[in-house]
Amino acid sequence: MKRFAAFAGALSAAVSLGLLGACTGTEAAAPETASEPAGQPVAAPDPAPAPAPEPEPVVYQNTRFSYSGELTQGGFIRGTVPDGTQSATLGEQELAVAEDGSFFAAFDRDSPANLALTATIDNGQVVQETLAVSPREWNIQRVNIARRPGGASEAFMKRRRPELDAIWDARQMRTGSTGWQQDFIWPVTGRISGLFGRQRIYRGEPGSYHSGIDIAPGNGVPFVAPADGVVVLARSGFSLEGGLIIIDHGAGLNSAFLHASRITVEEGESVRQGEHIGNVGSSGRATGPHLHWSLKWNAARLDPLLFAGPMD
Ligand SMILES: [Zn+2]
Repeated sequence: MKRFAAFAGALSAAVSLGLLGACTGTEAAAPETASEPAGQPVAAPDPAPAPAPEPEPVVYQNTRFSYSGELTQGGFIRGTVPDGTQSATLGEQELAVAEDGSFFAAFDRDSPANLALTATIDNGQVVQETLAVSPREWNIQRVNIARRPGGASEAFMKRRRPELDAIWDARQMRTGSTGWQQDFIWPVTGRISGLFGRQRIYRGEPGSYHSGIDIAPGNGVPFVAPADGVVVLARSGFSLEGGLIIIDHGAGLNSAFLHASRITVEEGESVRQGEHIGNVGSSGRATGPHLHWSLKWNAARLDPLLFAGPMD
């Protein structure tokens, strides 16, 4: 810094001398040696300080959210935040807003009917609107049998806890993938053997609902990444999931694929939409060969059918 200042000083001295038509300055001839100002400082006129610009009131073009998508339980929206947004939330959930202002947000299977979409603008304003999230008619079966008695055994939990930790850790990973911006495709097509959201209620006691969609194209059939992403987990041998692959699509959205008979990707690998990632199987707890595909956005569980659309 100091060296640069001295050099700049020598340069401006040379320029002023030049303007006077008497350029004999030795400083200008060897600026590299002018590490310290010589005893006789050359008076260079300081440039007049620029007048401080009047602070102009910020006028933004887009003062509202714009978005489109499936405003329903298990659904999602994509859109752009108002100009000048510093932070944005859906309900309590912070949104990951891309540099161009685009965002993704989604609605849990049990989302309330109204959720606030809020942006805090850098001029101090707050933009908020209430989204109406339509309820779904979930397939609820009321059965007159008791829920499986007793909890999981200690031996099972000893094996299960590290598995749950690994799944949790994988889902916390933020890879910066932009797969969330794409239109998703089916990882594999075939008979749908179980829909998202289905739930049994055992003598009034609700069991956990089906967290994904089951597709049964046959054992060994290859399946692909439904959108771009980064593999954050790819391991076989999970007690319930069997061969399990989790892909981060960015913005808090991730996919999980269960029961694989074969895994053809590795953790840390980037995958493209349509790329072969594994083969359908019945590993883990499965009654027959099928692919269970689930989608999560932060804590919200989503319906893959709303992402991939009707199966051709
Ligand atoms: Zn399933």
